[in-house]
Amino acid sequence: MPFATILGQEHAVGVLRRSLAGERVAHAYLFEGIDGCGKMLTALSLVEALFCGSAEPCGGCPACRKLASLQHPDLHLLEPEKGVIKIDQIRELQKELSLRPVEAPKKACIVSQAHKMNQSAANAFLKTLEEPPGSALLILLSDTPTALLPTILSRCQRLRFNPLPLEIVAQLLMNRGVPAEQAQSAASLAGGSMAKGGAIAQEGFLLRRREIVEQVIGLSPREFGLLTATAERLGHEREQAQEVVEILTLFFRDVMLCRHGAPPPGNSDLAGIVERTARTLQTGEILGRLESVLKAGQSLLRNVNPRLTLEALFMALSMER
Ligand SMILES: [Zn+2]
Repeated sequence: MPFATILGQEHAVGVLRRSLAGERVAHAYLFEGIDGCGKMLTALSLVEALFCGSAEPCGGCPACRKLASLQHPDLHLLEPEKGVIKIDQIRELQKELSLRPVEAPKKACIVSQAHKMNQSAANAFLKTLEEPPGSALLILLSDTPTALLPTILSRCQRLRFNPLPLEIVAQLLMNRGVPAEQAQSAASLAGGSMAKGGAIAQEGFLLRRREIVEQVIGLSPREFGLLTATAERLGHEREQAQEVVEILTLFFRDVMLCRHGAPPPGNSDLAGIVERTARTLQTGEILGRLESVLKAGQSLLRNVNPRLTLEALFMALSMER
């Protein structure tokens, strides 16, 4: 994985390239950024550059090939088990790092979701950071660096990873075979995360989104039974209700933009219904709806019953017609 294949992280990759060129690679890094923005890929590329012995890893030598299949004996990958990184995992890592490298010039360890270390694991890991055995390279990945011990933070070189630009998420999804329009729509909802973009594109999310928008927009206060039944169905689980609220937020945002002459950006597969709604509603009415949707989102965060939240939301949306 040459660095050139990593898209959208020019800053972080630039810093690492310069460190490699000047042989000033730190012994511990913290890569900070949302899930699915390329932290793991970059960490693997850094390890590959060191193991391959070239700032632009060749991809073809035995070291590169073993790393590509995550089978290199000198790479230790550590991730939470059932949501936690425990002290046993850190002890195992310490044992591993105390051994001489098998093939590579040094041992390397990548800790995924490093903030999931529990307290005893974090304290044990701190020892490893303070007295790194041999010349091991430690790379921590986290989307919540504030949850790490300050003493761990201060011993790592911190590198920020930005959420990926929309066009890059769309491009990467298309590279994976997602059709262009679907890739655009999924990218617009992914918040800069390939993990989220991939999940959205895969799970029939776009189809579900269309169904949800069409159902909710079609609700009338005169058909109260249908309204409550829809709330019952979509508000069965909190997570699902949250998704409905997210979808409606973006939908009304696009209606607002469309009302003011912009082409619907994210909801391109919903262009027809966005335009129809924008023609039907006045600016004030759209704003009122957006406000209701945001209020519903806050209620869900405050643990209000999801079915009741959606029922109130659907009432508000249908009455403001
Ligand atoms: Zn190589």
